[in-house]
This record gives sequence, C-alpha cells and structure tokens, in this order.
Amino acid sequence: MSKRAYNFNAGPAALPLEVLERAQAEFVDFRETGMSIMEMSHRGAVYESVHNEAQERLLSLLGNPSGYKVLFIQGGATTQFAMIPLNFLSEGKVGSYVMTGSWADKAFKEAKIAGGAHVAATSEDKKFLAIPDLGSIKPADNAAYLHITSNETIEGTQYSEFPDTGSLPLIADMSSDILSRAFDVNKFGLIYAGAQKNLGPSGVTVVIAKEELIAESPSNIPTILRYSTHYKNNSLYNTPPSYSIYMVNQVLKWIEEQGGLAGVEAKNRDKAGLLYNTIDGSGGFYRGVAEQGSRSIMNVTFRMESEELEKKFIKASEQEGFVGLKGHRSVGGLRASIYNAVPYESIKALTDFMSHFQKTNG
Ligand code: PMP
Repeated sequence: MSKRAYNFNAGPAALPLEVLERAQAEFVDFRETGMSIMEMSHRGAVYESVHNEAQERLLSLLGNPSGYKVLFIQGGATTQFAMIPLNFLSEGKVGSYVMTGSWADKAFKEAKIAGGAHVAATSEDKKFLAIPDLGSIKPADNAAYLHITSNETIEGTQYSEFPDTGSLPLIADMSSDILSRAFDVNKFGLIYAGAQKNLGPSGVTVVIAKEELIAESPSNIPTILRYSTHYKNNSLYNTPPSYSIYMVNQVLKWIEEQGGLAGVEAKNRDKAGLLYNTIDGSGGFYRGVAEQGSRSIMNVTFRMESEELEKKFIKASEQEGFVGLKGHRSVGGLRASIYNAVPYESIKALTDFMSHFQKTNG
C-alpha cells in the first residue's frame, strides 16, 4: 500500500484512516446483506438504521439537547445560504448577518436575493482578518435571525465565543469547524455544515435545528427547499445521499472513540498550538494572517516575505509529500487545514519541514 499523504486539503479533506479501513472492510457486503450500502433501498430497515444512528450519534455528541432535530440535505452549505432566507424571511423581516469574510458574504448575498439582508457587524475595516467584537453585533429590529460563520475557511478566523441573541434565533454556518470543539448547542436555532471537512465525504449537508423553527415552512417556496419537508419525512422525502450519510456515521463513531468533543478539542488545540508557535517563533520568516484573538484552530493561514518564496515553499513541500498548503485562490498565501482527522504527526512533520525550509532559505 502506498504511504498516506500529509493531507492539509481545505475540503474535501482528510478522513480518519480507521474510518476508511472500516468502510473498506464492509464495502462489498454490508452487514451480510450481500450488497454494499450504496446498492440497497433507502426505504429498507438496514439503511434506515444507519440513517437514524447517525442522527442519534450527532445529538449525543452534542449532549442530547432537547427539542433539536438533525436533517440530512443535499446541495452543500451553499444551498443552506438560500434555504435560510427562503424559509425564515416572512413579510417585512430581514436576516441580520455578521460579515467576517468570503463565506459570510456568500450567505448574505442569498438573503439579499430574497429581499431582506442586513449587516449586523463587519470586520471589513480589518480586511476580515478578525472576528468583530461580540458587543458590536447589532441585529436589526425586524431581524428574523442572526447569521454567523463560526469559522472562515479562507481567511482563517474563528469565533472563540458566540453571541447571545436571547429569543432571536442564532444561525451558524459551521462548515469548517463543526464538532472540532465543545460548545453549547442551546444558544443556536440552526446550525449547518457541509460534511466534507469534519464530518465525512461531500454530498451531504448536516443541519441541526430547533424543531419549532423547522416544523412549519412557507408553502410558496419549492417543496424540496422547505425545512418542514425534510423534518416531517426524517430526511427521507426523496433519495438521500446514503453512502455519504453512512460515512458520516462512521466518522461520528470515530469522534466518540476520541473522547467526544472534549477529546477532539484537546487534540485540535495541541495541533494548532504547535503550528502557530512555529509561525510566531520564526522571527517573521512566517507570518500569521489572522489577528491573534481570532485565529482559527482549523485553518491556519500564513504568509512569507514574497510570493516567489511562497511558490518555492509550496513546490518544496509537495516534493516532501505535503498536500494542500496553497492558500485559497482569492487571497493567496499559505494555508494548512488541520481538521479533526489530520493527525498530530502530520503537523509535526509540517513544522519540521518549515524549520528546515527556513534554515535553507532564510
Ligand atoms: N461555508 C464555509 C465556511 C465553507 O468553508 C464552505 C466550503 N469551503 C462553504 C460554506 C460552501 O460549502 P459547499 O461547497 O458545501 O456548498
């Protein structure tokens, strides 16, 4: 078998090796059915048990908050950008958005199309390299919800604490940091995340929502885009992305084995600490992009003195088996995405490489 790469891809991203091996072992014959899980009806008992297990595991990892439901929807987090305003903006209401960077902006633009987008706070003055102070966030009087992006994948920023919105539903795009740390779900009305970073392969988007928000939806929007359709049919209104959901269930089981959210959080903080210490201790050879208090423990963004040197770094890293260190095309620079499944050893190898590169190019 070939060696596993040091995988720092931003998404789709590394999956735990144990998960891949378990999936491989039951790939051809799932639970003695004589077929793979991809080949069976989504209306059968075998598939449904996996589907329900994944929902239960997710809620259990989140501490079994009462009154919440897990939905599996297709179309990525991008479809949620549109579904949120379509479902929640009744006449005269707006969605209030905290503008933290590229993904928040995409979410905001969909609310604009729906006719009700409001800026509750922005860090544009800081070039989106910081999360606005929670105290500066001011939802509109006629807000239907406050929307935040808990982790900006491209800029490499992350909320360390979440705003308290009282009775106003707080909605969060957690695509790039879901289940990376312990947090209080009860603060949120709705959380969504494309699976392809911390939860599994692409193809499924996980929504965790207060039942009172999703039980009824407007009837003037397409059936498939109503939260109530997915809620009332246990995410089986139409054919679900069954293999992706099966993989999510495997990843959730793996997170349980890591000691749940507290376990993965401790590991993630160690990993990010090692990498940021290497950047900060390089005497300016490497420079962190995000402001200290807003640094992400999932997407570590950094720069070097010149684009030429960054190109050289990327090329040399690829020769040593490191994958995915190039920053997003919209911002350039360097980025290491260190999601749950990226092992400490990969970050150790990367920081060793960075020190060596500095010695030979500094
Ligand atoms: N939100 C965030 C924070 C993301 O990182 C991404 C994908 N990189 C998206 C939304 C878009 O997700 P998708 O491709 O699943 O639509």
